[in-house]
Amino acid sequence: MPTPESRIRSLNSHSIRENGDYVLYWMQAYRRFGSNHSLDHAVELAKKLKKELIIYEGLRIDYPWNSERIHKFILHGMIENREEAKKLGANYWCYVESDTNPAKGLLKKISEKACLIVTDDFPCFIIPEQTEKLSSKVKCPVIAVDGNSVIPFSKFEKAASAARILRIWIHKNFADSFFNFAKPKYSKKDFVGLNKGTTPPFENFELNEPELPRFLQTIRFENEVKPDPKTSGGRSKALGLLSDFLKKKIHLYDTERSSPRSFPETPVSGLSAYLHFGHISAEEIVLSVLQNTDPDWSPEELILKKPGDRENFYSKSVSANHYLDELITWRDIGYLFFWQKPSFRMDLSSLPDWVQKNLSHHRKDVRDYQYTLKDWESCRTHDELWNAAQTELKHTGRMHNYMRMLWGKKVIEWSKTYEEAFHVLEHLNNKYAYDGRNPNSYTGILWCFGLFDRPWFPERNVFGNIRYMSSDSTRKKFKMKPYLDYVNSLEDQEGFLFS
Ligand SMILES: Cc1cc2nc3c(=O)[nH]c(=O)nc-3n(C[C@H](O)[C@H](O)[C@H](O)COP(=O)(O)OP(=O)(O)OC[C@H]3O[C@@H](n4cnc5c(N)ncnc54)[C@H](O)[C@@H]3O)c2cc1C
Repeated sequence: MPTPESRIRSLNSHSIRENGDYVLYWMQAYRRFGSNHSLDHAVELAKKLKKELIIYEGLRIDYPWNSERIHKFILHGMIENREEAKKLGANYWCYVESDTNPAKGLLKKISEKACLIVTDDFPCFIIPEQTEKLSSKVKCPVIAVDGNSVIPFSKFEKAASAARILRIWIHKNFADSFFNFAKPKYSKKDFVGLNKGTTPPFENFELNEPELPRFLQTIRFENEVKPDPKTSGGRSKALGLLSDFLKKKIHLYDTERSSPRSFPETPVSGLSAYLHFGHISAEEIVLSVLQNTDPDWSPEELILKKPGDRENFYSKSVSANHYLDELITWRDIGYLFFWQKPSFRMDLSSLPDWVQKNLSHHRKDVRDYQYTLKDWESCRTHDELWNAAQTELKHTGRMHNYMRMLWGKKVIEWSKTYEEAFHVLEHLNNKYAYDGRNPNSYTGILWCFGLFDRPWFPERNVFGNIRYMSSDSTRKKFKMKPYLDYVNSLEDQEGFLFS
């Protein structure tokens, strides 16, 4: 099935370079073979033009917040992609920067022989600028494909100011998009005639997982953040987590996920990092959830339903509906926010007028505590719950979702200025979280400042009418001992992790 026009964006007006050697798919964000609209489109174009298809996936060292933790996660995915490409007979070029294999000028060199380039239309972090630079420099068409979510973002005219508004737009478009999902799985047949064996102008990355720790030691990262020994990246790990979640956890999602516990004990999927690095797609998660909760499910059922009904829209299971609402509405609201103006980051200037008024009114309020980045980063505040949340993030690269909200709110309350709070949150989130550097990193942080929320009463110190959260009320709401015990058990491994 051809890729829907609504997912495709031409980034320059060049004509196809007829004498180019190949169609180049630059895999930047959807790092997977399967359920990938960009790859579908690249295959389609290579077949139409009767050209070779080169799939290029690269990893440089100099990305912001680079660390061994992030590198290792991405490399797991690349090793799997390399092996999958071999099985499929696809020509996949696997580039990993090192002292002996420098990145400078490489993409330009590869692009010069392309008749056209297809890439991923991811709206945040280094990708928009990278893509823009390439499309302005090369002399062939560059096509960006939006495979970010279930509904192509061009279907929405503007960003939504609240989830309840976006939910209605999504529900109205869902059934139509459902029939245009990307190809879930490839076979050898799909790549027949597309691989002429052209070799890359660099040393292909050929290491395997057991060799990664040694290789990673040869790289000088700007940030000392070690991988979590229990976390690995890659598509098979993502699909395994999904299957585990569907078998054991999804039925508890609506009632128990907010109660702070360790990741294995919390009924959540843990897929945000895999979504971020493109090891799994939102489409395939949706499909698996729907098939798992009701094998007879059909999108026609949706036509009779009320758009905007969070509990009852997608399936018969309220719990599955809650999960799909987080995965689609809450994830998309962040992506759509960036989609209107793709950029590296969003900051406090993106907050709505009612929040801005609150911030200017309360800017000079006395802060009961004030911490420096060093205090925050070394988990040294007066607040046991905050320290525990930050410790979880540092050690494991993830943080329980409820704690993440509390964590953000407290940094706002106990920082000298709002701007400083934003920078602390951006830094900690993007440095330590596997799922950081994503549209939802910024909209998650800005949610703590009131984005997509409404005014709350009574008006409070520092926050004004922005929703307030406290550790005392968290302790009243949930039994915190299991979470604190779990975090303490992580701290016992400190010597090992941060040595
Ligand atoms: C201060 C703060 C910072 C955040 N930073 C990030 C970030 O860097 N990257 C990131 O992906 N999410 C971020 N979030 C949103 C949310 O915390 C995570 O998406 C979620 O906890 C990931 O865990 P999971 O994959 O187990 O989610 P599940 O509960 O299993 O949900 C499935 C998927 O739905 C999406 N999702 C779930 N909850 C949210 C939410 N509240 N907002 C947006 N999408 C959601 C995610 O893609 C997630 O993987 C942040 C939230 C806050 C309050």
